[in-house]
Amino acid sequence: MKVSVVKSDSYETKVVDKAINDAVNLIGGWQNFIQKGDKVLIKPNMLTNVTPEKAVTTHPEVIRAVIKAVKKIGAFPSVGDSPGISNLKSTAQKTGILKVCEEEKTPFVYFTQSKSYSYIEGRFIKQFELVDCLSDFDKIISVAKMKTHVFMGVTGAVKNLFGCIVGTDKARFHLRMQKHIDFAHVMVDLYQTIKPTLNIIDGITAMEGQGPMSGDIVNPKIIIASSDGFAADLIMADKMGFDAEAMPIAAAGIEQKRIIRLKNIEVIGDGKDEQFHFVKPHTYKSMQDTYVPKFILKLGQNQLTSKPAINENCIGCGRCSHHCPPNAISIINKKAIIDYQKCIRCYCCQELCPHQAVDLKDGLLLLLLKYLGIYK
Ligand code: SF4
Ligand code: SF4
Repeated sequence: MKVSVVKSDSYETKVVDKAINDAVNLIGGWQNFIQKGDKVLIKPNMLTNVTPEKAVTTHPEVIRAVIKAVKKIGAFPSVGDSPGISNLKSTAQKTGILKVCEEEKTPFVYFTQSKSYSYIEGRFIKQFELVDCLSDFDKIISVAKMKTHVFMGVTGAVKNLFGCIVGTDKARFHLRMQKHIDFAHVMVDLYQTIKPTLNIIDGITAMEGQGPMSGDIVNPKIIIASSDGFAADLIMADKMGFDAEAMPIAAAGIEQKRIIRLKNIEVIGDGKDEQFHFVKPHTYKSMQDTYVPKFILKLGQNQLTSKPAINENCIGCGRCSHHCPPNAISIINKKAIIDYQKCIRCYCCQELCPHQAVDLKDGLLLLLLKYLGIYK
């Protein structure tokens, strides 16, 4: 298995074009993935309606380069996504992706309706409700963003496919899969169901710390490409300076024996020796996955987890409350108030708050265990 890592200094059209084409050529070239006449869905990360400079969403120039390459083969690209929050059209506009589609005369597909897709080998989910048009395409290209993620450690090519679940249906998965490792297994099932033909990660700018939305911008200046999304993500996490196989989705994939191990991946390209030291997210790691007896977990749940805490930036916009899976947030006197008895620690509020008004605070027992070195 090969993963290419190619340097790219900027988002200037020509520079990105070259980097994307170099990255794909190193793993066999576009013809290896796309054939003339194919209908191709390009799936960016369009988490919410922010400008590309925020490093939350896939940069539009990366999408432009992929559109152009697909057209050059004689195939027919479309671009589509369903943002985690916010209006679809405003997200497509603000991220710059709609403009690129218009300039390149490429359809933008609004993901609004779902239909069932089977994956009988699925560990948790054997039938996904995914965007209905998915089956209209011959090939899918996941074009993700290199970011940390408070719930999943990192988000790249695999987690990017969560956008194929339409709108607020996403919240139901958090309700059903409250343990992070269970949610990670679902992401493995989701990837196997969709199986993109090609995976590209935009790491020219990226996000560290409290990603995928409230972290800090960093500039690794790389593009990653692979036929395998798990392999691309393993290399991405490794380049970030993390224990790549310990990231929940990778760990779930390894447990299911569905992903390649890091040591078996050949990294190629002028960026293969690049190494970064991303700040880790202040991540909740579920104690429910450990040896701790269940009755202790129940007693100490609040103290053994990082809990979301609303800070003074809150303006009471209600976005978090609208998307909280168990409806644990109320807006009172223009401020979000969390009912910790209902909170399942999914961190959607932290992920989706546009005002960075949600901090994650360690519970007392968790702080103690960390202090004693028992829990890292
Ligand atoms: S925490 Fe953020 S999303 Fe929630 S109401 Fe306050 S500002 Fe809005
Ligand atoms: S309050 Fe935040 S962390 Fe808790 S369940 Fe709601 S969205 Fe998830």
